Amino acid sequence: MTFHELGLQQSLLDAVNDLGFETPSEVQEKAIPILLSKESDLVALAQTGTGKTAAFGFPLIQKINGDSRTTQGLILSPTRELCVQIAKEMQLYSKYEKGMGIVAIYGGASISDQAKKIKRGAQIVVATPGRMKDMISRGMVDISKIDYCILDEADEMLNMGFYEDIKDILSNTPEDKSTWLFSATMPKEVATIAKKFMHKPIEITVGAKNAGATTVQHEYYVVGGRDRYAALKRLADANPGIFSVVFCRTKRDTQKIAEKLIEDGYNAGALHGDLSQNQRDLAMNAFRKKQIQMLVATDVAARGIDVDDITHVINYQLPDEIETYTHRSGRTGRAGKSGVSMVIVTRSEMRKIKAIERIIKQEFDKKEIPSGMEICE
Ligand code: ADP
Ligand code: MG
Repeated sequence: MTFHELGLQQSLLDAVNDLGFETPSEVQEKAIPILLSKESDLVALAQTGTGKTAAFGFPLIQKINGDSRTTQGLILSPTRELCVQIAKEMQLYSKYEKGMGIVAIYGGASISDQAKKIKRGAQIVVATPGRMKDMISRGMVDISKIDYCILDEADEMLNMGFYEDIKDILSNTPEDKSTWLFSATMPKEVATIAKKFMHKPIEITVGAKNAGATTVQHEYYVVGGRDRYAALKRLADANPGIFSVVFCRTKRDTQKIAEKLIEDGYNAGALHGDLSQNQRDLAMNAFRKKQIQMLVATDVAARGIDVDDITHVINYQLPDEIETYTHRSGRTGRAGKSGVSMVIVTRSEMRKIKAIERIIKQEFDKKEIPSGMEICE
């Protein structure tokens, strides 16, 4: 299949060409024709890194009426970083459209600046639920005439406790809009949303439910509890070209490990919710530009974030919810590229590895921490 055969208009095909996308991914192949030809609700389940943004982004842009300044499409996404990333992607997709306003609104940045941008014309608004609610209540954004509402990373939004906010936001939208829900997994909370807020959605599923990308190789390293940090350094030393996200469980550990790595001469940075939005943006931008080799992060970075060519995901500590592992490891092995997801575990945590294997339907390789000698060689 080609993008042309999916029914995209010429201006979008030109953008696809500039992006270097040769053929549609499976979720794009399935979703785009439906979204272009039917005014229907849609539930799309596809593993992370399979191109879901373009699967809703292209049809949405094609459906927007560029002659009207009214807000016609709303995309809700769980985190600030993801919100910015989606808006940037959408801008690339719509580079040949005339008069297409795409505005990202999210917490931690100036609300009046965002309100000004919306005033200038935003046919598409990309928002986190919290900031969206805030701006609705202050009359800074009007979503009463939207035709399309997209819930991206729906499972994660619900995980983060946004159910009431989403309900509230949707109550400000017209009954007859179309709702498109995209998610990597289908927990029962998502099924509930689909039932409650959608009308007979068409369902598409790509690959095994809950499964991760098959281009990712999974490895675990057993260490003593006090050797975690030393093990992390060894792994970094043994992989000199490493470009990696290192996941920690808490904001405190994240900050601490990032600081220690920097002190020890590694090219590292921190990303977690205790930093200001400005600091978070700086860290993300530096990482995207590969000025930072190891981004130490909480699970705020586990979902959706798409940075090219991440070679390794390192689980410095396993997440509390083992389902989160799929999302963490999905930061690598994107768009068919290969990647490695490493887990540092203590003996007592090894049963979690078995549980994860059942979820991802892939086996881990048990590996030894490289010794100092091997690195010198
Ligand atoms: P998801 O939301 O499913 O996790 P993304 O939309 O973030 O995935 O896309 C993952 C990566 O794949 C991005 O870098 C994107 O630019 C790239 N991509 C998307 N569609 C295609 C395609 N058809 N061909 C090549 N690369 C693509
Ligand atoms: Mg996504």
